[in-house]
Amino acid sequence: MGSELRSARNWFTGLPLDRSADWRESVGRGEIDVDFGAACCFYISARGELLIEAGGGLAPVTTLAELDVDAEQRLSLGTSAGQVVLALIVDNHQREALASAHRNWVDLRLAALSLPPATAGYAAYARALVHWHQRHRYCGQCGAATRIELGGHRRRCSNSDCGLEQFPRLDPAIIVLVEHQGRVLLGRQASWPARRYSVLAGFVEPGESLEDALRREVLEESGVTVVECDYHSSQPWPFPASLMLGFTARAEHDELHYGDELEHAAWFSPEQLLAAVRSGEIRLPPGLSLSSRLLEDWYEARTGRSSDELFQPT
Ligand SMILES: [Zn+2]
Repeated sequence: MGSELRSARNWFTGLPLDRSADWRESVGRGEIDVDFGAACCFYISARGELLIEAGGGLAPVTTLAELDVDAEQRLSLGTSAGQVVLALIVDNHQREALASAHRNWVDLRLAALSLPPATAGYAAYARALVHWHQRHRYCGQCGAATRIELGGHRRRCSNSDCGLEQFPRLDPAIIVLVEHQGRVLLGRQASWPARRYSVLAGFVEPGESLEDALRREVLEESGVTVVECDYHSSQPWPFPASLMLGFTARAEHDELHYGDELEHAAWFSPEQLLAAVRSGEIRLPPGLSLSSRLLEDWYEARTGRSSDELFQPT
C-alpha cells in the first residue's frame, strides 16, 4: 500500500471538497447567495467547539437571520458535489444562546467519532482556521487590526501603509514508530491521562528536514539513535494547528535515556503490548490519531492478526 492510500485512511483527510480560490473570492465579497437549505453549514465556537445535537450530528444552520453574523464570522470551506460547505464562528454570547437541552458544545476530539468522516473533516478544517483567526487579529508587522478576506482564508492589515497579507499557518510535526528487533518504543508524558502511552512525536524546527527533526526528537526524548526511517502517511491535526507527518524508523540500539520530556518509555513486543493493554497497565492513543494508525499497521504486520484485539480489547 502506498502513502496516498495510507493517508486516505487517516481521520480528517481526503475531503470531497473543491477549494476553488475563485469561489472563495466571490463568497468573501458576498457575491454568492448561499441557500442554507441546501448547504452544509455548521456552527463553531471561537474555542473551536462544535454544536452537537442530542442525536450526535452537527446542529445545522438554516438561515443567517438566526444569528447576527457578519462576514468576519463566515468560513467558506468550499463546495462538495455542488453543495456549499460553510462554518460560522460564534462569539461567547452567541455560544451560550445556541446551547440548549438538545444541543451542546463539544470538542472535536469527542465529537468526531460520532460524525460521518467527511463532516468530521470539515469540522477539523474549520477548527484549524478558527484557531488561526483568533491569534492573527493584529498585524505582526505594524500592530494594526487585520480584516478577514477570501471567505476566511486570508487576513489583511487594515493599515493602508502596511497592508500585510497573512495566510493560515500550519505547524509541521513528525510522529514516528521506532522499532528495534521487533519491539516498538512507546513513551508517556507526565501531563497525559493516567497510563496513556504513545509513539514519539515533536515539532519540526526551522533549518531541519523531516528526517533531521525525527532523529533529533527521538534522541532528545529517549536517547535512542535512529538509523533508518521511512515516510508512512500524513494527517491534519487541528489541536491546535499541526500537520502530522508519520514515519516508521529503525533504532540502532535499545538503551533508553529519557529525560525531561518523557516520564517513562519502554520497548514492547506485540505480545507484551497486547498483555499490557489487556491488564490495564497501559492505554493506547485515541483512534483518531496517526499514532494509533502507526501502531495498528505495525501490530498487523508483525502478528498477521487484526489490531482490533489491541484497540478494542475484550
Ligand atoms: Zn500591518
